[in-house]
Amino acid sequence: MFEDLEAKLANALKKIKGQALITEQDALEVLKNIKFALLEADVNYKVVKEIEQELKEKLVGKQIEKNLTPFQTIVDTVHKELTQVLGAESSTFVINSKPFIVMLVGIQGSGKTTTCAKLARLLKSKGRQALLVACDIYRPAAVKQLQTLGKQLDIPVFSKENTKPQDIALESLEYAKSNGRDIVIIDTAGRLQIDEQLMQELVVMKNTVQPNEILLVVDSMIGQEAVNIAKKFNDDIGISGLIFTKMDADARGGALLSIKRIVGKPIKFIGVGEKISDLEQFYPDRIASRILG
Ligand code: GDP
Repeated sequence: MFEDLEAKLANALKKIKGQALITEQDALEVLKNIKFALLEADVNYKVVKEIEQELKEKLVGKQIEKNLTPFQTIVDTVHKELTQVLGAESSTFVINSKPFIVMLVGIQGSGKTTTCAKLARLLKSKGRQALLVACDIYRPAAVKQLQTLGKQLDIPVFSKENTKPQDIALESLEYAKSNGRDIVIIDTAGRLQIDEQLMQELVVMKNTVQPNEILLVVDSMIGQEAVNIAKKFNDDIGISGLIFTKMDADARGGALLSIKRIVGKPIKFIGVGEKISDLEQFYPDRIASRILG
């Protein structure tokens, strides 16, 4: 970890060796490289500028700790800053009502349907009784996909033909109550792009079922566009958190940093593969390391 950054910082750090404090000039030279690393990781430019400024304030005049090298002192400061921007600590959700209702929203292809099943599996492994609800009725394959996944997991899937999505969701709550399911996970429709009709439908669904959590599923491979999508969903519907999928691919994860800063909602889980078990709780410190390369 950090070898690449270390090489880039080598020159800047040579000058700092032997000093007790980091001067402004040293900090600027180091920050040039940090800025480059963040841009390379696809962090939004405005966010990079903000973080650069915050880091400058933290680094200039900083004492180089006795048992650390200048490199370690700087990397430690940068790592702490990124971790803090990403959310300081890991958060999932507090299950405080029965049934607890989770609605997953997002663009088509982001991994919503797969993630519904992954989440149901994860909760099952913690002793919860999930119910999957197929409300992505415009993509018939999505209903089938969810049913197949449910069967594989031995988790029931609620679906209904010729019914509006919000009515399917509402009926599923009754089903959950009478069948002892304590978590309802609703798969909603997506589109290839954001459109106003979809947003309106999601707002109707939200008002009808009043979910405890609305989680936006985002494909980490789409880079900077993720910020626009998250902002739009949050402005129109109001999300409570995010799940980033396809983190097993080679995206460095700059979008996570940008979204957390710009939209301000917590990242709760990350998808790390196509298998149903490939969903992990989000740990900000791990992603901070990954963004630094
Ligand atoms: P939806 O249209 O949003 O419901 O998307 P799907 O759930 O159908 O997923 C679209 C594709 O992304 C499928 O081929 C999934 O297997 C794949 N996918 C979902 N999550 C992940 C992930 O975390 N990693 C990888 N590699 N693929 C994923």
